[in-house]
Amino acid sequence: MLTLDTNVSELRGIGAARAKEFALAGINTAGDLLTLYPRSYQFRGDTVKINMAETGDVVSVIATLEQNATERRSARGMAFVTAFAHDDTGSVEIVYFNMPWLTKSLTKGRTMRFYGRVIRTLYGLKMTNPVTEPVFDGANLRKVVPIYPLQGKLTQNVVSSAVAQVLSLCGGISDVLHPDIIKKYDLMHRSEAIKELHLPTDRFSLDRARHSLAFEELVIFQLALRRMKQGVVTIPAKPLKFAGSGIRLFFDALPYQLTGAQQRAVKDALDDMCKPVPMMRLVQGDVGSGKTVVAAAAIYFAVKNGGQAAMMAPTEILATQHYHSLTKMLSPFGIRVGLLIGSTKAKDKQLVKQGLADGSIDVVVGTHSLIQSDVVFDNLLLAVTDEQHRFGVMQRASLVGKSAEPYQAHTLVMSATPIPRTLSLILYGDLDVSIIDQMPPGRQPIVTYGYNSKKRGDAYNLIAAEIAAGHQAYIICPLVEEDDEGGKRAAETYAEQLGSSALGGIPTETVHGRLSPKEKEARMARFASGEAKILISTTVVEVGVDVPNATVIMIENAECFGLSQLHQLRGRVGRGSCQSYCLLMSDAGGANAKERMRVMCETSDGFAIAEADLRQRGPGDFFGERQSGELSFEFAGVSDVELIGTTAALVKDMPDGYITYAMDDAIETFFDRNKGNRMFN
Ligand code: ADP
Ligand code: MG
Repeated sequence: MLTLDTNVSELRGIGAARAKEFALAGINTAGDLLTLYPRSYQFRGDTVKINMAETGDVVSVIATLEQNATERRSARGMAFVTAFAHDDTGSVEIVYFNMPWLTKSLTKGRTMRFYGRVIRTLYGLKMTNPVTEPVFDGANLRKVVPIYPLQGKLTQNVVSSAVAQVLSLCGGISDVLHPDIIKKYDLMHRSEAIKELHLPTDRFSLDRARHSLAFEELVIFQLALRRMKQGVVTIPAKPLKFAGSGIRLFFDALPYQLTGAQQRAVKDALDDMCKPVPMMRLVQGDVGSGKTVVAAAAIYFAVKNGGQAAMMAPTEILATQHYHSLTKMLSPFGIRVGLLIGSTKAKDKQLVKQGLADGSIDVVVGTHSLIQSDVVFDNLLLAVTDEQHRFGVMQRASLVGKSAEPYQAHTLVMSATPIPRTLSLILYGDLDVSIIDQMPPGRQPIVTYGYNSKKRGDAYNLIAAEIAAGHQAYIICPLVEEDDEGGKRAAETYAEQLGSSALGGIPTETVHGRLSPKEKEARMARFASGEAKILISTTVVEVGVDVPNATVIMIENAECFGLSQLHQLRGRVGRGSCQSYCLLMSDAGGANAKERMRVMCETSDGFAIAEADLRQRGPGDFFGERQSGELSFEFAGVSDVELIGTTAALVKDMPDGYITYAMDDAIETFFDRNKGNRMFN
């Protein structure tokens, strides 16, 4: 008797050789066959009239043969079968290569369905090697035909005939979702949905089946995340206490008042740290929204609770900047801050390491050098990482792992990349998120202008005026395609050309991808110190670099950048109290490019821009931010924004009673399948 465990070799038409091919593709049982999901579909049921088909279209036409097909052979022996057929709007010429056996069935007066790509020639419509099926009463023809992913010697026919033999087993597939959920969200049962994938009724039912399975998949994914978060609990964290921390004193000493959004983020973080569970929190806020002080408050809290804190940044410049701001905010309270970066002198490195090990240094700021094994802490309670997408999960974890047994350190991650909420659920599902969606008061919004190259002179004049007023400027150089010199030539040529413009004679510095990190940092430092007035850069200027005196950024070929990138670039200016400008240079006339310029000129809200970017370009670019090795979804995609939202709300307060045994299994399988994934290791 056929069951889900029946070996494929017992099916009709599958001998030892084919069974081996199936095994190579990972298909051993009837059940495996049912979960070999089609990769696409041919919608052969959507027929068009012959006069409506255009060159390049893949269509189905139903047409009657005008005479018997003719067959001839080329000099090399290749068979050509030619036939002419018509419907009530026109006729089509059909040619088959190397299918001489078709001649017999293509007889005058027969009506057939032809599916394939068409071209329009001088003489009319033409199809080559279409899928050809006789029409009897129309009922024999499938509307939607699945196309399976193939491997090795397996063909569509072999696979679909094998699947057809086991389809009756679909009835035995049980639901993973609780029946109440299926009913409430009007989903198909799993058995029905899987059958529909293999034997679709029509477009509508097929969509409903895929929707139901995507829904299920997203629920499993989110429950798996929930379970993983609960699993972390097995390693406790030291719960901190408000009493005696004197956190008020820290806030009172700040030269400004925290914004409401900053207050919320601080509260989220401190509350987390008071729990015996490690904090895993992401603070997301646009550039300049004031994330550093949130981290500083958390660090103060950890140190006043008798522990140490570490802050890791992706570059030496950033680490040094953080070191200075933290020292300023924390040293008045007797908190000792150390810096540990590659260029720290060997002797000083030794001193910092010694201080961390014996507890005489409370806070260390550094780059990757912090995770080296000879960096040992006396009592690390909090690990902060800035610009988190630059670090892998493993790096984050190895810092957290330097805490004192048996505790795990609390983790705070800061990111300046605004990500639409629904996406952050998938990208940062392992973290709780606080969003700083408010700027400190008194910021003047950056004024953004779009220019075309005829107005380049105006742009240069504006830059020259800002520099004359004592400010500085960034110029993002034109992008050069296929430039294996890392933009070296582009930057240098551009700098030369500036010499003869309104900007001639102004001290400039160039950075490009060909520089050693050391040289790059040295050049950036000359700009940061004010020695150079203009920084010409081919690559994106380091995220987080803070030169408050820079008030203009000019972006050449602005159309080459996505909205989120433009927004990041623009964030290099507007960091001081003076009015700042962003000049977008573009000659591109495309609708998308124009729309991007419009959005940039109209809004400076990073989240609004991220939403617009998601609409324009889809989610792929956001994933780029967070390394590859993505989750494997079969049906769901990050473009299912609405569905992600719906299922998130459902999972959020789903009682345990809704987690069926089948769901339990599915969650385990999910963990297995995503073992290597950054979120689940
Ligand atoms: P980012 O979120 O980009 O890391 P920073 O933490 O570097 O931003 O803050 C940017 C600037 O804003 C800093 O100079 C900081 O001192 C200042 N700042 C932060 N919070 C406030 C606030 N509430 N009021 C006024 N200025 C603030
Ligand atoms: Mg920052």
